[in-house]
Amino acid sequence: MNTEYDLAILGGGINGVAIARDAAQRGLKTILFESRDFGSGASSKSSKLAHGGLRYLAHLSFGLVKESLRERARLKSNAPHLVKPLPFLYPVYSGDRYPHWMVKMGLSLYDWLSPKEEPTHLNLTPSHLTALLPHLTPKGLKGGCLYYDALMQDNRLVIENMLSAQQEGAIAHNYTEVTNIVKTAYGFQLTSHLGPIHARCLVNATGAWSKLTRSLLNLPEAIDVYPTKGVHLVLPQIHPSHALALTAPQDGRLFFLVPWMGYSLLGTTDTPFQGDPTQVTVEPADQQYLLSALRHYFPALKDDRIIASFAGLRPLISASASSPSSISREHRLHLSEGILTILGGKYTTYRQIAEEAVDEILRFLGKEALHCRTGAAPIYGAKDNFWESMSMKDLESIAVKHRLTFDQLKRLSNQYGSATDQILDRIRQDPSSNRQICPHHPHLVAELSYAIDVEKARCPEDWFQRRTSIAYSKCGGQSCLENVSKYFSK
Ligand SMILES: Cc1cc2nc3c(=O)[nH]c(=O)nc-3n(C[C@H](O)[C@H](O)[C@H](O)COP(=O)(O)OP(=O)(O)OC[C@H]3O[C@@H](n4cnc5c(N)ncnc54)[C@H](O)[C@@H]3O)c2cc1C
Repeated sequence: MNTEYDLAILGGGINGVAIARDAAQRGLKTILFESRDFGSGASSKSSKLAHGGLRYLAHLSFGLVKESLRERARLKSNAPHLVKPLPFLYPVYSGDRYPHWMVKMGLSLYDWLSPKEEPTHLNLTPSHLTALLPHLTPKGLKGGCLYYDALMQDNRLVIENMLSAQQEGAIAHNYTEVTNIVKTAYGFQLTSHLGPIHARCLVNATGAWSKLTRSLLNLPEAIDVYPTKGVHLVLPQIHPSHALALTAPQDGRLFFLVPWMGYSLLGTTDTPFQGDPTQVTVEPADQQYLLSALRHYFPALKDDRIIASFAGLRPLISASASSPSSISREHRLHLSEGILTILGGKYTTYRQIAEEAVDEILRFLGKEALHCRTGAAPIYGAKDNFWESMSMKDLESIAVKHRLTFDQLKRLSNQYGSATDQILDRIRQDPSSNRQICPHHPHLVAELSYAIDVEKARCPEDWFQRRTSIAYSKCGGQSCLENVSKYFSK
C-alpha cells in the first residue's frame, strides 16, 4: 500500500466524506478512516430535511439561512434521486410563540433569500388547513402557510459522497480505527490495523466524538464540541402528502411531522448530552415529549404506536446559550498545527463546509488554490441523466429484459440513479439475483450484493440502517435477518 498522503481524514460522516471528495477532486492525495460505518453518527439520524432552517430567521441568522437555501437548491440539482422537494404546512394557533403575521413575514423573507427558481409560500386560512388536515384540532387555529423545503435520504447521501470521493481517487476505509498518531518531519504518522500511513495534514471530522478523538489520540486543543441529542419516532402514517411544522406547546420549539417511507417521522428533541456518543439512546422522556406535542394538535389520533425510533447527536459549537435550540447552527473550522477541526453546521451545508475546509488545507499545504467544482458536480448516481434520457418504451424493455416490473425498475432508479446500471449488470450476470430478499420489502438480492461489494456494507446493520432504511420499518428487518446474514458470512 502506498503510504504517503497529503490529507488524512478522521470520521466518515457527511462532512468527512464530502471533504474527501472535494480534496481528491482538487488533486490532493486523500485517505479517510471511519471507526464504525460510514454515516453511523449524526449523518443517518437527522430529520432528513435539506432546508434553509426557517427557525434560524428568528435568531437573525440570515447568512446561514441564505447559504442553506442555496445549498438546498444545489442538492436538488446535483443529487435529484436522493433529495426531493417537500411541501410543508405550518398551522398557527393563538398564543403560539410566532403569531401568524410573523410566520407570513418570515416566509416572505425565506422566499426572498431563496434562489429565484424555488417555489414561494402561500398563505392559508383556517378552513384551508382543516380541509387539508381533517384531524387537525381547529381550536384556536388562526391560519397558516404552505411552503417548500426538501426531503433527503441522509444515509445514502453519505454513501454516494464516499463513492464519488473514491471515483476522484480518495481512499475510504470504514471499520478502521486509527489507534495512534505521532507528529513526524513529514507531518503525521497514523497507525491502524492496516499498518502505518503518513499524511501532511489531518482533518478531525468526528462530530460529537471530536473531543474524545482528540484526547484518545493526544491531539492538541481545538474548539470544543457541545453535543445535543435529537430523537425521532417513526409512527403509522398520519398525513401522506405534506410535512407539518408545528410548535411544541411545552416550550415553543418547532417540531416536524414528515411523510417518510410510508410512515410519519416525528421529531425532534434538542437536549444537552454528555458521555460516550456511541451510547446515545431514545429515553421514555424523549418519547413522551414528542407524543404529547403531537397529541396536542391531533387529540383524536387513534394510532400512535411507535414503530421505530432513533437518536443522534448534533456536533454543535460549545457556547453559552440560554437553551440548546438557541445555539447557532453555523459551522466553524479551526486549523492548528496541521490539524483542521470541523464543528457545528447542518447537513444541508455539508458541501459548503467541505469547500471551505479544502480551501484552508490547500493554503496550509502551500498548494495552488484550485477551484472547487462540487457546486455543479452531480453526485455518484446522478450522472448521465439515466432516467430522463430514456423513453417509456426503453424502460419497459429494460424491465422485461431483467424480469423486473416497471415499478421495480422505477424504485431502483429512485434509490441508485444512474448506478442502477450496476444493479442491472448483476442481474444479467446472475438472473436469480432479481428476486426479493424478503416478502416485506422490495429490495433485491442484486442490491444486497452491490451494497457488500461496492458500498462497503460489512454487516447486516450496515445494510438495514445505512444502505437501506429497513431498520426503521414495521418488521425492522427481523423477517429477513437470517437470510441477509448469510450474505455477510460468505
Ligand atoms: C437529531 C438531528 C436532526 C438533524 N436534522 C437535520 C436536518 O434535518 N437537516 C440538516 O441540515 N441537518 C440536520 N442535523 C445536523 C446534521 O445531521 C449534522 O450536522 C451532520 O450530520 C454532522 O455530520 P458530521 O460528519 O460532522 O458528524 P457525524 O455524522 O456524527 O460523523 C462523525 C463520524 O466520526 C466517526 N468517528 C468517531 N470517532 C472516530 C475516530 N476516532 N476515528 C474515525 N472516525 C471516528 C463516527 O463513527 C461518525 O461516523 C440534525 C442532527 C441531528 C442530531
